[in-house]
Amino acid sequence: KFAKDKKIEIDTLKIREEYRKDFLGNVSHELKTPLFTVQGYVLTLLDGAMEDKVLRKKYLQRANKGVERLIYIVQDLDLITKLETEGQRMNFEDFDVLELVRNVFELLEMKAARKDIILTFDREYKKPIYVRADREKIQQVITNLLVNSIKYGERNGTTEVSVENLIKNKVIVRVTDNGEGISEQHFGRIFERFYRVDKSGSRTEGGSGLGLAIVKHIIEAHDEKIYVESVRDAGSEFSFTLEKSHHTTA
Ligand code: ADP
Repeated sequence: KFAKDKKIEIDTLKIREEYRKDFLGNVSHELKTPLFTVQGYVLTLLDGAMEDKVLRKKYLQRANKGVERLIYIVQDLDLITKLETEGQRMNFEDFDVLELVRNVFELLEMKAARKDIILTFDREYKKPIYVRADREKIQQVITNLLVNSIKYGERNGTTEVSVENLIKNKVIVRVTDNGEGISEQHFGRIFERFYRVDKSGSRTEGGSGLGLAIVKHIIEAHDEKIYVESVRDAGSEFSFTLEKSHHTTA
């Protein structure tokens, strides 16, 4: 009996160790690219580009972009580590999900405008829709989904958000874009940490590869579900469920 218990324990440890190695390997790989980019610009500046006023500004801006990228990656790593650590609690409160989406629209408006992408609701909502969830975490979910719809969206495209009543006490939030889409064989893997459909493409777009893993963690910590539907070259729809608020009627 003892031996068997011990074996299971060692197996679990082995899996954890593999997982940890895998994670660390991925992290250092993700950090290397922007670090070398920053170093490249700094070295070029030291090599003489500093004397040229135009080049100086250009290279400093690019180095800064690299640093920004590093900050995003580290922030996402921090978040996912917290989410994966047991005991990370959701702070449930009642809030209007439409208002939350409007806030995120405002924060991302500039980013979308740079690609001539319009962020919009599928229709005019006259009344608030109250849900019970961790507001800050759901803001992160909506942000990550919208950022992706901009990153992988077509120029002059549209990203639409809809909120609908679902059976019983649930609502479903949908984020739909008409961007590059994802072929079905990747559906199962895009929520994994660091998984990317197009390795080079999304790297130039500057993602950490953690956005959807974070989204999945948060939705599952709420005991809710996340879905993806997508057609290559036509667009994607990510949707997730939330619990309607008991206290306030929509
Ligand atoms: P990344 O930082 O690479 O964007 P994510 O975890 O957010 O990481 O997404 C994983 C991968 O899923 C992306 O690299 C991209 O290939 C694909 N993807 C995510 N959202 C979309 C979308 N709206 N349209 C097309 N592809 C997407």
